[in-house]
Amino acid sequence: MRLDKFLADMNFGSRKEVKQSIKKGYVTVNGTVVKSDKFQVEEQKDLVLFEGERVHYQKDFYYLLNKPGGVVSATVDNHDATVLDLFDDDTFREDLFPVGRLDKDTEGLLLIMNDGQLAHRLLSPKHHVEKEYYAEVAGIMTPEDVVLFKEGLTIDGGEVCLPAELMIDTVDEAANTCQIRLILHEGKFHQVKRMVKAVGKEVTYLKRLRMGGLTLDETLALGEFRPLTQDELKLLR
Ligand code: URA
Repeated sequence: MRLDKFLADMNFGSRKEVKQSIKKGYVTVNGTVVKSDKFQVEEQKDLVLFEGERVHYQKDFYYLLNKPGGVVSATVDNHDATVLDLFDDDTFREDLFPVGRLDKDTEGLLLIMNDGQLAHRLLSPKHHVEKEYYAEVAGIMTPEDVVLFKEGLTIDGGEVCLPAELMIDTVDEAANTCQIRLILHEGKFHQVKRMVKAVGKEVTYLKRLRMGGLTLDETLALGEFRPLTQDELKLLR
């Protein structure tokens, strides 16, 4: 790989900026200053230093974000802050994107990565990757709703959902509210809210707890993220 690409990939500036840094003699490879941006490096073998700092090459980046409300699951947006605005100079990369969408007001587990192939697999309807949600609901979900969800609910007068597991965790009769968990095997637009609405209730708070084998890290505050561990990555592959 060319030295300028190596450094640009590792966020040391744009391709143009790193070419200038190389020309200025900021970069050494295996102890020798290299001033040619075309110089070929072996990513995992050569010792590259930028102003004396070791540069480790990494191709794929995977983050687990505890998405807060108020930001949209997009890379750019004209009106709202995006989940990528939560990243700072050290972690932001142009090629990062959120894997799928959570609504602006939904919180919880969102993967941010630059691995298009894995994202495609996780989102592909063929693979039915499970998603588990926690929701607070105005109105009380019933055992009949559990059966309807399990049989495959029809929403908005025609769209049929795959069977889903609804668990009613707590019920507050006096307040006419309940707390539920819902496991979906697909990802239709606003699906949880629309399914709950189809049985006459309303989601007032929604959080994603799990995607496939990967669970939300509850030690992450809202808006915080961290790299996935190798074990977590294995759970997704
Ligand atoms: N279902 C919804 O209604 N909203 C989300 O953000 C995710 C699933």
